Amino acid sequence: MMIEQVGQIEPWLRKRFVCDCGKEHSTSIRKVIIERGALAELAPYAQERGYSELLLVADRHTLEAAGRELLQQCEAAQLKARLCVLAEDEHGELAADERVIVQLMLHVTPSAQAIVAVGSGTIHDTVRFVAHRTNRAFLSVPTAPSVDGFASVGAPLIIGGFKQTIPAMPPEAIFADLALLAKSPQAMIAAGFGDMLGKYTSLADWQLGQVLFGEPYCELAAEMTRQGLALCVDHAEDIAAGTELGVRKLMEGLTLSGISMLLVGNSRPASGGEHHLSHYWEMKFIQERRRALLHGAKVGVAAVKMAALYESAAALTKEAAARAIAAKQASGDVPTAERVCAQIKKGYGSIADQVLAENGLEAGSVSSLDEELPQRIIKHWDAIRDVCRSVPSPAVLAEALQRAGGPTTIEELGVEEELLQESMQYAMYVRNRYTIMRLGQWL
Ligand SMILES: [Zn+2]
Ligand SMILES: [Zn+2]
Repeated sequence: MMIEQVGQIEPWLRKRFVCDCGKEHSTSIRKVIIERGALAELAPYAQERGYSELLLVADRHTLEAAGRELLQQCEAAQLKARLCVLAEDEHGELAADERVIVQLMLHVTPSAQAIVAVGSGTIHDTVRFVAHRTNRAFLSVPTAPSVDGFASVGAPLIIGGFKQTIPAMPPEAIFADLALLAKSPQAMIAAGFGDMLGKYTSLADWQLGQVLFGEPYCELAAEMTRQGLALCVDHAEDIAAGTELGVRKLMEGLTLSGISMLLVGNSRPASGGEHHLSHYWEMKFIQERRRALLHGAKVGVAAVKMAALYESAAALTKEAAARAIAAKQASGDVPTAERVCAQIKKGYGSIADQVLAENGLEAGSVSSLDEELPQRIIKHWDAIRDVCRSVPSPAVLAEALQRAGGPTTIEELGVEEELLQESMQYAMYVRNRYTIMRLGQWL
C-alpha cells in the first residue's frame, strides 16, 4: 500500500490507517521541518496554533546555541515566552531524572500553553514527560542529531537510579535547523550515527521475538527503520564531516526511526540488546558517579558486541544448535525462574526489585520457565539462522562507526572489560524483551 513512501517523513504525519500487519497505526506529529532556517518557523507555527505563551527549555549550552535566538524570535512575533535553563548537578551532569523533572515542573505556569525542548535527548525526554503530565503541547527543537528519540513517545527517565521508559507523548512539531545541527559537536553527530547503527541488531532482535514467541511484528515499521538506517550508512562520510547534507540525512534517519516507533506504539523496532547493554552501562556509571557517556556512542559500540553474538549463532547448523542446547540442559545451565531471580539480585543490587518486576518475577508471583522454548529454538532454527545472517559482521559495523568518526571499541568508549563481561550476563534483564543475549543463554 504505502510501502513505496516508507523512506519519506511527510506521508506519515497525522495519519491513521489500518496496516497490512493487521493493526491500526496512528501518528500525531503535525509537522517536521528539517532544513536550514527551521528555527525561525517555530514562532509562526505557535501563532497559527494559537499558543500565545511558551516555555522554552534549554541547558546552558543550548541556551547559547539556539535558546536566546528563539526567545527573540518569539518576542518579535508578540508571543509571550519564558526560559527555563536546566541546571547541571554538582558533578556537571544533566540527566532526565527526578531532580531535573522537578526543576522543569517549577517553571510550568498555569498560562503556559506549550513547552519547547531546545536541546538533545535529555532535554527532550524531560520535556516530553512534563508536557504530557501537565497537558501542554510539546514542541521540539533538536540542537544535535544525537538520538532517535526526538519523534518517539516513551520518555526514558532515571528514577531511583533505574532507567525506565515512561509512556509520554511525541512532539507536535519538530524544527530541526540544519545550520544548528551542522554546528553541533562532532561526537554528538557520531553518536546519532551510532544510535542508528544499533538498528541492525534491534530489528533482528524483534524478528527473534516474532519467530520464537509470535510477537506482533510490522514489516512497514521495520522497513521504515531499515530505510532510515540506509540513509545514514549511505552518507557516513558526509555525516563524519558534519556537512549539511550529512546532518540532514542523519536527522531524516533518526526521525524515520522515531516514526517507526510511533507506528507500533513502542520502541521494539529501534531498541534491542544493544540498548539494554547501553542502559546497563549508564546505570552503573550513575551508581559509580562517573561522567555519563553519550547514548548513541554506547549504542554503537554495544551493537558491535551484539553483532558478534549474531555472528556466532549464525555459524551453527540446526544440529549444532540442538547439541549446544542439550549440553546446557545436561549441565543444568539453563535460565530457570529461580536462577534468573538469583542472577538479577546479584547483578542489580539495590535496584533488583524494579528489575524483577520488569521481568514479571516480583516476589510472590508464580513464574515458571517456558518449558517449550528449547524445542521451539531447534524447530525454528533455520528461520533464526536467517535472522542471524541478516546482521552485518561486527567488523563491518565497527568499520562503519569508524567512518562516521565514533568510538568502535569499549576502550575508545571508556567502558572496562570487566564491566562489559558483567553486562553481557545481566543487561538482558534491563527490559523484558527477547534479544540475541537471551537466545545466547541456550547456545
Ligand atoms: Zn537509542
Ligand atoms: Zn503495521
